Amino acid sequence: MENERFSGHLTNVTIDKDLVTMKIDDFDGLINLFRKGKIDFDIIPHSKDLISGIQRRKAYAMIRDICEYQGYVQVFEREKQKKKLKEEFCENSGYQMFSLSDCKKDVATQFISFLVEYCFEYDVPFQFKDLVNTFDTERRVYLCLLHRRCTACGVTKDIQINHEDTVGSGNNRNHLDHRQHRLEALCANCHARFHHIGAESFYEEQHFHGIKLSDEMLISMKLMSRKQMQEFDEQYKREEMEQRLISGAERRETR
Ligand SMILES: [Zn+2]
Repeated sequence: MENERFSGHLTNVTIDKDLVTMKIDDFDGLINLFRKGKIDFDIIPHSKDLISGIQRRKAYAMIRDICEYQGYVQVFEREKQKKKLKEEFCENSGYQMFSLSDCKKDVATQFISFLVEYCFEYDVPFQFKDLVNTFDTERRVYLCLLHRRCTACGVTKDIQINHEDTVGSGNNRNHLDHRQHRLEALCANCHARFHHIGAESFYEEQHFHGIKLSDEMLISMKLMSRKQMQEFDEQYKREEMEQRLISGAERRETR
């Protein structure tokens, strides 16, 4: 049923022929229904502060992914699990019980965030499709780093940490100060794609950027040790001192 609701907006009206043109948010879904012979629909006005079609589909898709992962296949089992997830969300957030058919947009946004965090925490595989419209991007990049998931496609296999700011030829990849770089987790495939199409096209296509992590996060994620950070700091100090000596000598020479 949830897949039979559409949102759209009027783009044209032909007054004398009673015809309207609408831009539909899920064209393929609508065409699927046409193929099954459904041609009659109710149209009701949509208020901007209510849940959007994209949000509704995302929430239902994630509930479906969670149920599948947890082995709930029967309709009544899924309904029960949906209710349980909503109750848990309400308990944590303080929101009143709500319906995904007509809740407020901000409730939907918070509920989707709850589902995304749930999937990360319990390692539930889920589709990243539409996440860009329904979930905070920086938070996704962070969760993917924390739980070692590909930020682009969501898989958990062969995860590599990509340094967004180009690693120049002078830098040794194995001996790199991660504090200086924006980081993101990518699977081997997406990482290869990143290098194949180039950073700029990749970010244009994926709509996210890496983030810098705190020292504590880098240590707890075993990307760097405290000792390595101290070694880098000492190296920077040495380089700064050398630089000062060189410019001092240059000044003396020009006198
Ligand atoms: Zn990937």
